[in-house]
Amino acid sequence: DNPIQRKPAWIRVKAPVSPEYHETRKLMRDLKLNTVCEEAACPNIGECWSKGHATVMILGSVCTRACAFCNIATGRPDQLDPHEPQHVAEAAGRLGLNHIVITSVDRDDLEDGGARHFAETIRAVRAASPDTTIEILTPDFKNKPGAVEIVVEARPDVFNHNLETAPRLYPSIRPGARYFTSLQLLSRVKELDPTIFTKSGIMVGLGETAEEVGQVMDDLRAADVDFMTIGQYLQPTPKHAKLDRFVTPEEFQSHEKIGRGKGFLMISASPLTRSSYHAGADFERLKAA
Ligand code: SF4
Ligand code: SF4
Repeated sequence: DNPIQRKPAWIRVKAPVSPEYHETRKLMRDLKLNTVCEEAACPNIGECWSKGHATVMILGSVCTRACAFCNIATGRPDQLDPHEPQHVAEAAGRLGLNHIVITSVDRDDLEDGGARHFAETIRAVRAASPDTTIEILTPDFKNKPGAVEIVVEARPDVFNHNLETAPRLYPSIRPGARYFTSLQLLSRVKELDPTIFTKSGIMVGLGETAEEVGQVMDDLRAADVDFMTIGQYLQPTPKHAKLDRFVTPEEFQSHEKIGRGKGFLMISASPLTRSSYHAGADFERLKAA
């Protein structure tokens, strides 16, 4: 009885068939860019790619960590592509993106954890496409000295770093990371530049309780985090962390309501919410408000 095969009706995925989907795919291939949409087998790919929204993954396609929930390959990392920042900028321009999400694998092997490459990519996109708002979703840089400062100096519009789950579940779900290191990173970003919006997210359905979700919210607010996302964990393969349960749409609504009460500027909680899902539209709404 494999829970991966028993998706409830509210987890619906549209088949990726539109011409825009194929166009985005071709552009990414031509520019040798990786996307988290494909690598993480994201269920929203049909919708997002049809709208020309994609999350680019820099620093290669192989991660130095192996989180139990994640479908990205682990092993010896790729050589850094010095043209990658330029290629991301070109993709943003050619897709005419209002908002781009740039993420990466973890590069614990690099002396700065990949911070300079992030900063160069932000600057390249800004130079090529000044009206595109830039959201980055970063690793924890393994707390390498100066890494966060390097990225903050390049002034992304939104700095996102996911807590992924409740602290109690870290040893089994996110064994290479520390909950408080991640919280401190978010807090440090705000301290360095209060004009940058900070954002974080968790997956639910891994065995966390509603109280634990509330505690994560409080910790994020204490770190002055502005936006939060909460989405259903989907087990990518039978080898990955076991799905505990599908959280109901009503429970997601309750999380969203509680989160608003705690003062997040934006909170998105739904079964298909991902860090980057509707990120552009949410950000536009916020700027207009
Ligand atoms: Fe890509 Fe994010 Fe959309 Fe998923 S939600 S398809 S990762 S942009
Ligand atoms: Fe996946 Fe990020 Fe964990 Fe690497 S660090 S395995 S990319 S979630």
